[in-house]
Formats: sequence, C-alpha cells, structure tokens
Amino acid sequence: MVSKPVVSAALAAALYSTAALAVPPPVNIHPPLRAIAGAVKASNLHASDVALVGFGTRHTLSTTTSKTRGIGAARRWVAAQFETISKGCDGCLEIVKPAQVFTGERMPKAGAEVMDVVAIQRGTSDPNRVIVITAHLDSRRTDVMDATGDAPGANDDAAGVAAVIETARVLSQYKFPATLVYSADSGEEQGLFGGKIIAQYAVDQGWNVEANLNNDMVGNDHGGNGVFDPHTIRVFSEGTKTNETLQQAAYRRYHGGDVDSPSRNLARYMQALAEQYLDNFHVRMVYRTDRWGRSGDQVPFLEQGFPAVRLSESNEDYARQHQNVRIENGVHYGDVIAGVDFDYLANVTRLDAVTMASLAMAPPPPSQLSVQGAVAYDTTLSWQASPAAAGYNAWWRETTASQWQHVQKAGDADSVVLKNIILDDYYFGVSAVSKDGWESPVEFPGFAGSFARSPKLGADGKPVNERYPSLFGKWGGGAVGPASWQHPPAAARRPPSSGRG
Ligand SMILES: [Zn+2]
Repeated sequence: MVSKPVVSAALAAALYSTAALAVPPPVNIHPPLRAIAGAVKASNLHASDVALVGFGTRHTLSTTTSKTRGIGAARRWVAAQFETISKGCDGCLEIVKPAQVFTGERMPKAGAEVMDVVAIQRGTSDPNRVIVITAHLDSRRTDVMDATGDAPGANDDAAGVAAVIETARVLSQYKFPATLVYSADSGEEQGLFGGKIIAQYAVDQGWNVEANLNNDMVGNDHGGNGVFDPHTIRVFSEGTKTNETLQQAAYRRYHGGDVDSPSRNLARYMQALAEQYLDNFHVRMVYRTDRWGRSGDQVPFLEQGFPAVRLSESNEDYARQHQNVRIENGVHYGDVIAGVDFDYLANVTRLDAVTMASLAMAPPPPSQLSVQGAVAYDTTLSWQASPAAAGYNAWWRETTASQWQHVQKAGDADSVVLKNIILDDYYFGVSAVSKDGWESPVEFPGFAGSFARSPKLGADGKPVNERYPSLFGKWGGGAVGPASWQHPPAAARRPPSSGRG
C-alpha cells in the first residue's frame, strides 16, 4: 500500500459544514435502537466480505455452475446466509430469487439471466408497507465484459452485501409492524438490472415501498487524494420526483417543494437518527440522486415511483474502483479487502439497521397531506387520519434550512392550525407518531412530498405499465420475456446459454 498524506477528520469535516441541528425528527429516544446499533459486529462484516471475495469473480456473466467461483456460487452463499439467519428466528425470513433475462450493451445479444437473492421479513400488522435494503453482489474488472478474470469487488459492493446480511441478522431478532426486505442484487455493473428486478418485483407484489436504502461502496473512508474521514457517510437523495408530470413540476416550481421529495425527507430522517443513536457518526446529505454522472440500484426504485436513497462512503479511491488488481508505478489498483475499513462499514450498517427499524416501527407518513394559509396569519395543515397513528407532529423550517427546525404536536386530529406562522415564510411537513412514540419521516404536502408511489404517467395521465429505461440508456438494454415471478414459468423461456444457480 502506498503511503498517503492523511488529512485529519476534523479538517475533513471542516471542508463542509452540516447545518446546526435544532430538534430534528424523530424526537423520542428508543432504547431498542441503541441495542440494534450495538448488535452490529465489524467481525461479521469482515467474514462476509472475505467469503464474497473468495469467489474470485462475481461478474454477472461469470460461471453459475462452479461450486467455488463466480456469481452462481456467490448467490448460493448469500442464500445460505439468509437461511442460517432464518433458522435463528423461527423461520422469520422467506428467501426468493427473482430473475429475468436482460440484453443490452453490456450483455450478450441473446440476453443472459440476472438473479437477485432476496430475504423477506414479513411485518406483523402492516405487511404491505415495505422497507427495502439493497446492495449489489456482482463485481467487475477494467473491461466490464471480462467475466473470467479476478474481480474481488471487496468494497464495490461486497461491503454493501455484507451490510445487507448483517442488517438481516440483527433485525431478524425483532418483530416489526412493517415488512423488511434484504436484497443482494446482480447485474448492477451491466446496467442496473438487479435493481430493476427488485423494483419491478415490489410493484408486482403490490408492495408500498416506503424506503429503499441502497448501499453501494460503503466500506472505504480513505480518499485517493489522502483525505480521510471515518465519521461520515454520504446519503444521496433526489430533490424532485423522477415521475413528476409537467403540471406537477409547474406547481412545485412556483410554491416550493424542490428540495422535499420523500427521498430527501428520508435522508433528513437518517441524518437525525445518526445524531441520536450513533457515536460520532454523521450523515452528510447530498442533494443529488447519485454522484456526478454515476448511478446505482436506487435509480430503478425512483423510476418506479418509490422513495430511495444511496449510501456511499465519505471519500472514494478511484484507483480501487472498476480496476484489474495490479501494481503500476508503485500504485496499487483494484478493489481488495485492504481497502475496506470494517469499523467504518459497521457504522454504516448501524445506520441502515436503525433506519429500517425506526421506519418499520413507526406508522406510515400521513396521506393526502395538504397545506392552506394564503393571505392569512395562520397556517393550516390537513391530512387523512390513519388508524396506525396515535398522533401527528407538524414541522416547519426556514425555506433555506436543510433540516426541520420547529415542531408542534397535533394530537390525533386530522388537521392543525399553526397560529401566527405565515405560510409564505417556511416549508411545512407532518409526521405520524405511534402510541409508543415511534415517528415516521416528515412528509412535505402535496405530490412533491408524498410518500405514496408515483408511477410514471403517460400522456393520457394514466400509469404507464412498462419497465422504465435507465437514465444511463446506453447501458440500459431491456428485459427479454417475462420475469421468473411472472408467467409463463421461468423454465419455458430460459435461453440455453445461461446457467442457473
Ligand atoms: Zn457499485
């Protein structure tokens, strides 16, 4: 390893400033969340990462028949981890392997099968409300079509898959009203295909996905430029909804809401949870869908109209990404175990687990939320009361503030009047609270902020029932035939070139 100048965390933190947090939501402290954070073990994450790297390559088009090498063996290993975890919770996990054949610029012309390995922990009272954590199992080399050479992908994204498995292990010891889904996707590097599969699977199951937490490159805190920050995780969120119509955009542009998508308010929720439950570990919100010109498996969720964020490490080392393992002029290239800081990864995993648990314990955010108060001295928020909520909190903040600043309890009513708070001067939102004080993310009023799914609409205003093309269309390609969970059955349409496992 080449020695690098190390910039102190304090200096790195000073390179940007997190706005001072007043009392961001959720407001109550829940001891189980501290226990959940405490149960995450760096040693488990290390063991998973070593096992995944041990398959040599996990390229999407690598062998599926070998017992020791390739994507097939890696998929079976992940499924075995989920099965072991399930044995420890009276079979609380259902394991499914949704698959579909895709073609595209980074796929064979005839297509190849992409398969996700997914564990489902059904909610006890609101199972259709779903929180999904994703990471991608597949890895790549400098040549994205090279499916045979070693591609360890220790950080991108074995670290993320390790976080998914550890989150399942810890949260399987609890029961939640909502459903938790743990997904190890494939096909990410070839065109976000595994993300498309799990997002479409969610649609076809009729799931109300309240949040997708996509963990992609979450184990390295040393930038290739020497900047080192083990105390921060970046959470990327889109500002306005992918599927906004022109009319909705015109309304939002005039009245505000351009920084209050449900994905953004999910990021705010995570920032507040980190401050309350993690030790010296902070969320740096980035007001973008992803890094510049880059993408990840949260994007297919956004395209399906679900709230989603991407978690990515504080600093990246580009020499370790998408590179053949080698030494050139003394520089180490390649994504190897030595580039993963497992104590850092443990903190990211704690944030995942605490966020999933808090979301799943809390009621869903309010529905049909609206705000009134034009030409008035008071602001009125109204919503449809839900039996799952024992009460509501009204929140507001300066229009230039990044985090919610002020709160007023609204009881169990379906509206609240904020006296002498002028609608023109603030952004407003409402969270739902359970009888035990578990609080949902804050929702911004109207379409711009609604957590309800916003499917893509056609010119006639009706949902377009299609698989949405990736933003990165040149890689996108498309599905060949129906998916494994659709009809006809998978065996009838699998191309002969594609293995199975
Ligand atoms: Zn990745």
